[in-house]
Amino acid sequence: MFSNPASPATLEGYGTCVFKGAVADKYLKEQGFNSSMLKDVSWPKDEKKAKAVAAALLNWATDNGAKQYSHWFQPMASAGVRHGNAGCLQMAMFDFDEDGVPYPSFSHENLLQGETDGSSYPNGGLRATHTAGGYLSLDPLSPIFIREDTMFIPSCFVSYDGDALDEKTPLHRATEAMSREGKRLLKLMGYNTEGDLINNIGLEQEIFLTTRSAFYNRPDLQLTGRTVMGKDAARGQEMSDHYMAPISRATSAFETMKQIQAECYKIGIPLKTRHREVAPNQYEFAPMFGNVINQVDQNLMVMQIIEEVASENGMAALLNEKPFAGINGSGKHNNWSIGTSDGVNLLNPKQLNKASGNAEIFPVVMAALVSAIDKHGDLMRLSIASPGNDFRLGAMEAPPAVMSTYLGPSLTEYLEDIKNGKMSEYSPEKKALSFGADNVPDITVPSEDRNRTSPFPYGGARFEFRAAGSTQNVSLINTCLDSMAAEAFKVVADRIEGGEKPLDIAADLLKQHEKCIFNGNGYDPNWPDDAVKRGVWRIDSGIDAIDQLDSPKNVAMFSSIGVFSEKELQARKSVLLTYYTGIVEMEALAMIDMINKHVIPAVTKSNVGNANKLNDGVKQISAALKKIHAEENETKQGQMARTLRLETMADVRQVCDDFEAKVPAENWTLATYDELLFLDTFPEGEMW
Ligand code: ADP
Ligand code: MG
Repeated sequence: MFSNPASPATLEGYGTCVFKGAVADKYLKEQGFNSSMLKDVSWPKDEKKAKAVAAALLNWATDNGAKQYSHWFQPMASAGVRHGNAGCLQMAMFDFDEDGVPYPSFSHENLLQGETDGSSYPNGGLRATHTAGGYLSLDPLSPIFIREDTMFIPSCFVSYDGDALDEKTPLHRATEAMSREGKRLLKLMGYNTEGDLINNIGLEQEIFLTTRSAFYNRPDLQLTGRTVMGKDAARGQEMSDHYMAPISRATSAFETMKQIQAECYKIGIPLKTRHREVAPNQYEFAPMFGNVINQVDQNLMVMQIIEEVASENGMAALLNEKPFAGINGSGKHNNWSIGTSDGVNLLNPKQLNKASGNAEIFPVVMAALVSAIDKHGDLMRLSIASPGNDFRLGAMEAPPAVMSTYLGPSLTEYLEDIKNGKMSEYSPEKKALSFGADNVPDITVPSEDRNRTSPFPYGGARFEFRAAGSTQNVSLINTCLDSMAAEAFKVVADRIEGGEKPLDIAADLLKQHEKCIFNGNGYDPNWPDDAVKRGVWRIDSGIDAIDQLDSPKNVAMFSSIGVFSEKELQARKSVLLTYYTGIVEMEALAMIDMINKHVIPAVTKSNVGNANKLNDGVKQISAALKKIHAEENETKQGQMARTLRLETMADVRQVCDDFEAKVPAENWTLATYDELLFLDTFPEGEMW
């Protein structure tokens, strides 16, 4: 990965706490193996190898002060509410000998599987207290790592009946389906690839940093991650002055970011990019991309480390999609591509043409993916339907709730030719860019411009799913994308086997599905309506999108490729709906508390108006919550919660914010947007 691994100058401690490469090599050699054995992911199935790995891990753990081990897994509905988004039962690594003397112990049985109470995590009815079995199996695609005194073993989690209870098991099934059908298609087109096809992703993680002291004066941020009230500060992001500005040493933000990077390096997470984002106090990290299974795990650790390091530096990190109204929220662009095990990117036409020697493969793959996007835009929409994203999608900061793709003019023109039966090799050339000054050298740039208004633009070698939310575990997103790709590859492969020519199939798919290609401005207010006229998926409400998860089309698709059974889809839908309603309930109760304990006392004390409007607001919110509780249908509950949040609570917020404008500063007991959003002008510690 790095050009000169012998001198990792800027990567001090890189990978020292993760069991792979040189670290694993040293300990595995003591057991008669070396680290290359881990590359064949079937090693857990070979008892001899599993015993060797367990013995090596025990020595490694002991040398590094780890005395506990933990199967580390990913329960559903964790985003924003469960620290680290993970579950981890931590077990001490010792046993007693015959004389009752303890000795360090860790067996291959300990390593390979674990058990936890399946009914105590959101499970959508798959488990109950009297049928609670939940089991963990080691995930050999993601390396084991040590933090503090614990060795973490990435794992997958299913019920006693084998139903997926976690985010990751379906992701494995989806990547395997994509690989199986993709390889089949490539082989039918004369390109035999070694090993599995790999879904590579790179996740750009946006966050806010604020002072911990101000955070403690915001019950809404503490309990829900989002401000449910707060008058705009006089300054927002209108000058875009925060974007890419130097990360200043005047506050703890710089130290926090450096330490986050360093801690991530230790467990082998290559956070390569760091910068300020456009909203005040907004920051971003991005790693080098890699295998989706490992990247998902790494992203969860990135989020956990961000929260921990921030608090150690007197800061609070906010991962929520929309912590503040009136300024941009946070996303997590999910950059997505498919590669062969020897590094050929199927979305990079030059690489693919060269490696395969068949220029027809690229347009066939692209046509298949376009058909997948057009057919299953509902799945893409629901996979990013996190509660916080309600406030982002459709606003001028993230693409609207319409699932189209931007391919750029030259690729679109090329596919247009394919559709009309005109084949050529697609080989986009970089172009020279002049700065108009002789002393400034020309540079070369991609053949296509960038379009930041599309939810799923193609960027020359990857699609970038820009609508993903910042708190999300992106497993479901990639489970959907990989399943969609798997099905599309399967359809094409079946048709080739049925005797059709690949290019004819591509032309046919493009005719049927090109309507989802949109190269224009996705923020144009007319686009959503035009999209509907074209027949492109547009689902404004996240709840309505989630409701599609177990539609007949989706049950047929997921079950045909072995990713989800109907029962699992129904359970997952239930989990997504109750999670949404639960989040809204927490926000509503936080708002009621803040009105009663802060806003009304401040208004009364300052004598700035009649507090009745506030009392009325509390009553409206309470009444809406009661109605939600009385409703039994989970989709309807979600729809009611959405109305409560986007309409009723928004109106009540306006009343609060109007009062905030009038209350003298010394009587206002909540941290204001000025205090929460301008680290650079209010160094921590001074305001509170
Ligand atoms: P942008 O170019 O979107 O502003 P960054 O450069 O900050 O963003 O991040 C781009 C992300 O996309 C990085 O995590 C990078 O590793 C990842 N990426 C680049 N190429 C690919 C690819 N072929 N497949 C998947 N992810 C990729
Ligand atoms: Mg990006």
